[in-house]
Amino acid sequence: MPNLEDNIEAELGRLVVRQQQLRDRHNLLVMLEDFRSNGPLKRKGSGMDANKNSELEKIKQEMKELEEKEEQLRRQGNKTRKEEDIQNVINMGGVPVLPASIDAIIAAPPPGPAPQIILDVDNLPPAPSNTMCPSCHQYIITETVTRVGSTAWLVCIMSAMVGCVLGCCLLPFCTNCFKDIVHKCPKCRSQIHVCKKL
Ligand SMILES: [Zn+2]
Repeated sequence: MPNLEDNIEAELGRLVVRQQQLRDRHNLLVMLEDFRSNGPLKRKGSGMDANKNSELEKIKQEMKELEEKEEQLRRQGNKTRKEEDIQNVINMGGVPVLPASIDAIIAAPPPGPAPQIILDVDNLPPAPSNTMCPSCHQYIITETVTRVGSTAWLVCIMSAMVGCVLGCCLLPFCTNCFKDIVHKCPKCRSQIHVCKKL
């Protein structure tokens, strides 16, 4: 079976060489034109100029055609390569999970910001956090537990005073909203910090 991909590669190589030739010729012509109009050999317009301009036009035209052809070939090449890759993966008994392009692999940043380590335990947020345990000096993610604190008692007493005596005053002990949050070290089990609600 003739390898279509190799053909495309070869064709692309030829295109690139031809484009380079055209670019060189174009640059040379432009340089000559510059030299002639600004240099010491200043001349009035002659038949040469018309010829040169038409050649420049021709080069531009051909460059454009080559670019279009290149684009077309690249698209074709990408398609066959992708199909081949998928076939390879399937042959090896896998599920084809392919990146859309190389760019996707390079450009993808790690998701989310890097974890922040809070060294001042007094600033710990009311959620498990990265910190250094003051007792065992290890880097840990704190465990958090809720604990009935002064806030829950205060809310209980206040609701009893406004008449919620039939059990409603016990609600602050059932919900975490009014409880303190205690950070603990998962390694040495010591209490690191208490986030009080008030
Ligand atoms: Zn510890």
